[in-house]
Amino acid sequence: MEGFMESEGMHYEGNCIRPPSEANSILLQVTLGCSHNKCTFCGTYQDKRFNIKDDKTILSDILFAAKYMRRQDRVFLMDGDALIIPQKRLLWILERIQENLSWVKRVGAYANTKSIGMKSPDELVALKEKGLTILYLGVESGDEATLKAIRKGTTGQNLIDMGRKVKDAGMKLSVTVLLGIAGRERSLEHAKATGELLSAMDPNYIGALTVMVIPGTPLYEDYEKGRFQLPDEMGLLMELREMIVHTHLTRGLFFSNHASNYLPIKARLPNGKQDALNLIDQALKGGVDLRPEWMRAL
Ligand code: SF4
Repeated sequence: MEGFMESEGMHYEGNCIRPPSEANSILLQVTLGCSHNKCTFCGTYQDKRFNIKDDKTILSDILFAAKYMRRQDRVFLMDGDALIIPQKRLLWILERIQENLSWVKRVGAYANTKSIGMKSPDELVALKEKGLTILYLGVESGDEATLKAIRKGTTGQNLIDMGRKVKDAGMKLSVTVLLGIAGRERSLEHAKATGELLSAMDPNYIGALTVMVIPGTPLYEDYEKGRFQLPDEMGLLMELREMIVHTHLTRGLFFSNHASNYLPIKARLPNGKQDALNLIDQALKGGVDLRPEWMRAL
């Protein structure tokens, strides 16, 4: 490819996010924004129209990383859902990574049900063989009424099917669920249905984050007008408890150690479940220091 200028550095545009577990990865921005961009709580990509970046810019960033990021052995493909890139182009990106960043052991990306649905099982296997070995999927809730209310654009069953499709391709699946997203009234229904969905999906990693109400989002408007009420600290803990009670994994890690959570939990399921429940029960009785409000952050 002609005319790239590796001296320009990485070509990041706008607000960029990555999962906490990709903090030390080479962050390669291959798309802008999210192809869905409708979830009521999400303010991440409001500044961007979804777009796939051009091959020249992507290659320039890979070559920059080849020169200056030789100690990082993971790549994370940003932004919102890189899996939506057409198969041939995505394979091309993965091949350039293998060719130029030979020390990289793992490539990850965000996905959603639409982008997983657009790939055939064989295509997912082909991507995995080229190094894309972990996908991150935002589940948020297993409760149909909540999924509808937050405009997730999918159903619980579809989330289960798409999650299983990723696992069947031999990829690792990491999902996030949102504590508090169903408001006060549906809190426990949301928790139970989410645990049941997670059991049916059986992901490798589950991150339970506490929803943050972000100015400028439809959820914020509902919050301001009193139509959405966040459960209080104890309510969120009860929600987390109920979710864990209903989550049965073959083998997986359930964590809620995100900065937005009041009580950090890390449980290997199935064996660590009782310990996690005991810790939550202790916290519910006031026996554990909860993270003070000022320490909660996005
Ligand atoms: S799919 Fe993810 S990135 Fe896209 S709008 Fe929803 S929460 Fe935000």
